[in-house]
Amino acid sequence: MPTAHDAIVVGSGACGGWAAMELAQAGLKVLMLEAGARVDPATDFHHTFLYQMDYRGRGRPGLLRRYSGSERNYRIMLDNLENPYTTSPETTYSWGRSRCLGGRTLHWARATDRMADYEFKAASRDGYGLDWAVSYADLAPYYDRIESFIGVSGERLGLPQFPDGPFLPPMALNCAETIFTAACQRLGWSSTHRRLAQLTRVHNGRPPCHYCGNCVNGCEVGAMFNPIAVTLPPALKTGNLEIRTDSVVARVRMNRENRAQGVTYVERHTMKSVDVDARYVILAASTLENTRLLLLSEKGGLANSSGTLGQYMMDQVSGGGVSGTLPRLEGGPSRLDDGKSAGITIPNFQNIDKKSERKDFIRGYVMNATGGQTEYPQFAAALPGYGSAWKREIKSRYVAQARVWIAGAEMLARKENFVELDPEVKDHWGIPVLKIHFTHSENDSLHALRERLQADRGFPAAGGGVVPEGGRGSHAQRAARRPGRIPGSARLAGRTAGESPGRFDPRGRHRADERQPERRRSQLVWPDARHLKPVRLRRQRVPVDGRQASDPDHDGAERARLRSPAGDGEGAKGLIKLGAFSPLSPFTAGCHRLPLGLTSIRKLRMLGRAWSSSRRRSSRSSSPST
Ligand SMILES: Cc1cc2nc3c(=O)[nH]c(=O)nc-3n(C[C@H](O)[C@H](O)[C@H](O)COP(=O)(O)OP(=O)(O)OC[C@H]3O[C@@H](n4cnc5c(N)ncnc54)[C@H](O)[C@@H]3O)c2cc1C
Ligand code: SF4
Repeated sequence: MPTAHDAIVVGSGACGGWAAMELAQAGLKVLMLEAGARVDPATDFHHTFLYQMDYRGRGRPGLLRRYSGSERNYRIMLDNLENPYTTSPETTYSWGRSRCLGGRTLHWARATDRMADYEFKAASRDGYGLDWAVSYADLAPYYDRIESFIGVSGERLGLPQFPDGPFLPPMALNCAETIFTAACQRLGWSSTHRRLAQLTRVHNGRPPCHYCGNCVNGCEVGAMFNPIAVTLPPALKTGNLEIRTDSVVARVRMNRENRAQGVTYVERHTMKSVDVDARYVILAASTLENTRLLLLSEKGGLANSSGTLGQYMMDQVSGGGVSGTLPRLEGGPSRLDDGKSAGITIPNFQNIDKKSERKDFIRGYVMNATGGQTEYPQFAAALPGYGSAWKREIKSRYVAQARVWIAGAEMLARKENFVELDPEVKDHWGIPVLKIHFTHSENDSLHALRERLQADRGFPAAGGGVVPEGGRGSHAQRAARRPGRIPGSARLAGRTAGESPGRFDPRGRHRADERQPERRRSQLVWPDARHLKPVRLRRQRVPVDGRQASDPDHDGAERARLRSPAGDGEGAKGLIKLGAFSPLSPFTAGCHRLPLGLTSIRKLRMLGRAWSSSRRRSSRSSSPST
């Protein structure tokens, strides 16, 4: 039966926006269903200082718990009461989500680094898990295409572990970043401007960044990548895209031939259930929401012939690092440092080849460093003293703030990190929610420990001193904090660890803070630095899926699953699952490298081309002249 739409795209984030653009430009009639509200940059994004807000950015009392953001972005952050999720008792994970037109890229950090072969082929080197089904050479043309279209500012380095792209000019470094760059040179570390999907000159009709520093609250001029500014306008221009916001998709419906036939969605405000059909269904609701939809669509999970749907969940390890001040900058004049949100990146230099192989952990991480004046001196709350002397001290250090942090460490994919449908809890529309089971491995913790030690080297090389962060940051930092050079910092570091009931247990267990669930981050379970031992994973055959990876049958089946164009084997015809790496890797919850699985783009392009040529063929055969 003919349907009004050729394709349904569920979700309007980085992946959904790209899918809609590709398909609409190829001539398909596309229906985009977005669970969140429509967002209009002109009216929804504001430049406001904390002092201009009723609650100084903390949000209306009672509401803060409902939103993961601040008073600035009620509009673009999701309501946790409408959209709850649950976690197992040992889980230390905060699901950073967004429900609005444009998804998470409305407030993302814009880092757009490429992955490299040392990551795709890591399993061959260290024996853990499986190599990726693609190599860098397979992906490079797609990286080129995306970066050329969205605009990424950066500097070409020529490092194989940190591949270059067709960059726009980088942003200038500020004083702190210049000092850190010199420190990296002294230490023999490569460093460069962070590569950001943020324009430094006019690009594809979009204006350059005017360095207002408002990015995480939404860019009203479209100088950073997000679907509202970049992919949806050309898709809408074709006349082939219809967007329905406030439409919460509840499941994918299959036909008798086991092909995706359409979806059922609930109108967010009226609670009305609606069925829509199309020839193709594209799931682009984010990695975890896609999984939830597949689990909701069929008993045991749709497209789950491998039985691994929801397992091997990964995210990036966050945490580690140090915050402090750079004495050379102390007492200097005020500068608009936080208008430019770049910083420097120190690409991974460990476990990238035989020479850099480490004995104590496998895989690696990237570090970032930045500094300078910010809107609010976060460290002030932890600084002892009072009165005008205290204010002078804050003002003097305020301009010299600096930090080095772990920008992304590769988590190991483990079966014990998984999601399932919660048997009891439902969301506002009566749809079962996800239950997340997630802990960090010792290898993840060792990444943070090593990064912390390296940051401790990097900071003195830059002439920096260490001060406590005043209750923010990772637990790793607190447990392993080394007394700083600034008087009082050691005492305060102790206080940070001991006086945050519910946030940190000095005996070594992270406790979920039930009062502020939205504040929890996917940070490390930090057992205690002394307890950590080198992991002896190298060259071992590590169990995958409860069996040994050397089991040829299992290994082959697993590789076949990863190589299968549908990502998950049979039962997925007509259904394309987009997500951060989801078609490629076992499972990645919140990618930090790439908003869109690149093989998905290849699939979309193939789909678009096949569609156009079938249209050409059918129009030739129906044309009177042929
Ligand atoms: C604060 C922050 C900083 C980040 N920084 C970086 C960075 O620097 N670099 C980087 O590479 N990545 C970063 N990320 C991650 C990156 O933003 C995501 O990986 C990427 O945006 C994912 O795109 P997506 O389209 O898969 O999902 P999303 O952007 O989450 O979009 C999914 C969309 O689907 C909608 N949806 C969900 N469920 C349903 C449903 N049932 N029915 C209909 N619609 C639904 C949602 O409302 C949403 O609009 C960051 C993320 C956050 C939150
Ligand atoms: S700093 Fe630049 S990219 Fe960020 S919101 Fe301002 S203009 Fe947009």
